[in-house]
Amino acid sequence: LLEVQHLEKTFGEHQVLKDINLQVEPGEVLSIIGSSGSGKSTLLRCINLLEQPTNGVIQFHGENILTPKFDVATYRAKVGMVFQSFNLFNNLNVLQNCTVGQTTVLHRDAITAKKIALEQLEKVGMAPYVNAKPAQLSGGQMQRVGIARAVSMSPEILLFDEPTSALDPEMVDDVLDSMRALAHTGLTMILVTHEMAFARDISDHVVFMDQGVIAEEGTAEQIFSHPQEERTQAFLKRYL
Ligand code: ATP
Ligand code: MG
Repeated sequence: LLEVQHLEKTFGEHQVLKDINLQVEPGEVLSIIGSSGSGKSTLLRCINLLEQPTNGVIQFHGENILTPKFDVATYRAKVGMVFQSFNLFNNLNVLQNCTVGQTTVLHRDAITAKKIALEQLEKVGMAPYVNAKPAQLSGGQMQRVGIARAVSMSPEILLFDEPTSALDPEMVDDVLDSMRALAHTGLTMILVTHEMAFARDISDHVVFMDQGVIAEEGTAEQIFSHPQEERTQAFLKRYL
């Protein structure tokens, strides 16, 4: 579904991503772990073209998304993103947050968009709050709306960048439960997280990044139970 080959990203003199290679199959959950500054967010932002990679190839359904003629708008609609800071539209209520992209980008009619939004809000336990504005919600509630909004767009891949790291501890589990349920629907997910137990539980593949390179990758079992690299072992030790 998605294949990243020899991806590089440089900001000025600083090479943030070096020769990144990875592959995501349909229905797979890939987790990206690693220290602060290792390039995890930059990699996600390159994958959804919020950043323009300096070098390399990203293929989506076998098509290079970095060629000038590639239809970026259509691609963005298929690759959703859930942000650490929620990024909800504060002037819109919960339901409108989940319908606006559907009607403007996907050109769904208002009734269909509302139906899909309500289904997704129901799944994350936010249906009772359809008329609330984001400012009236807790962080955990806002993030569950963020997830419902992203899923309402029927993405083929959903990217998550530390979706629980801005939350109070008691809010984290509700959000993780919503994500776990999504993974079980077969949605393809790429997840940057510091929730190691969760990553171990839901990931098919895990990538450990260190200073802009993939230092180690493998199944969740391989990375968490039998890490081969010293850097991976040292990193994981800090989370035990
Ligand atoms: P964290 O766990 O703290 O979120 P991360 O692994 O997501 O870290 P990135 O945000 O990808 O790391 O940043 C990797 C490096 O790239 C950092 O040194 C950062 O300062 C640098 N960087 C990121 N974005 C930019 C930018 N727009 N301009 C210049 N440097 C940047
Ligand atoms: Mg980051």
